[in-house]
Amino acid sequence: MALEKHIRKAVFPGSFDPITLGHVDIIQRALPLFDEIIIAIGTNAAKNYMWTLEERIAKIEAVFKEHSNIKVTSYKGLTADFCKAENAQYILRGLRNTTDFTYEQTIAQANEKVNGVDSVFLICSPEYSHISSSIVRDIARNNGDFTSLVP
Ligand code: ADP
Repeated sequence: MALEKHIRKAVFPGSFDPITLGHVDIIQRALPLFDEIIIAIGTNAAKNYMWTLEERIAKIEAVFKEHSNIKVTSYKGLTADFCKAENAQYILRGLRNTTDFTYEQTIAQANEKVNGVDSVFLICSPEYSHISSSIVRDIARNNGDFTSLVP
């Protein structure tokens, strides 16, 4: 109840197909800001994923198994609705460049206006700005070595 209100909870939404060092960097740097972080895999029936939902969840759980304040789950529908259901006041996102910023800006503004859910952005560390899940998938599809990009 009253106590619950003071818990600072953030949802870190994404596809995590797969989780990369870029995601891990953002999550680790956000840990001091929140009491709890929910890593939430949005599921979209129209999307073709390379790794199954179970594989993606298992990988993320393995990375953060020492952290009792990090939860891993999946959700359907709007991220803002999921945040409300979880009593999470914040959405956490990482920004690599202006393309990310332009994409995130209107979504964050709409989430705040329509649902009262605010977004917190961390700019990725420079050594990770070239990393994306889609690059990892490209390398994987062509039997390349992507181990330096993932945890
Ligand atoms: P989505 O499908 O929503 O883009 P992703 O799994 O690709 O989900 O990314 C989830 C979040 O992680 C997004 O905020 C994205 O900008 C961020 N992110 C992805 N790659 C990096 C990176 N290399 N450095 C920092 N943030 C990143």
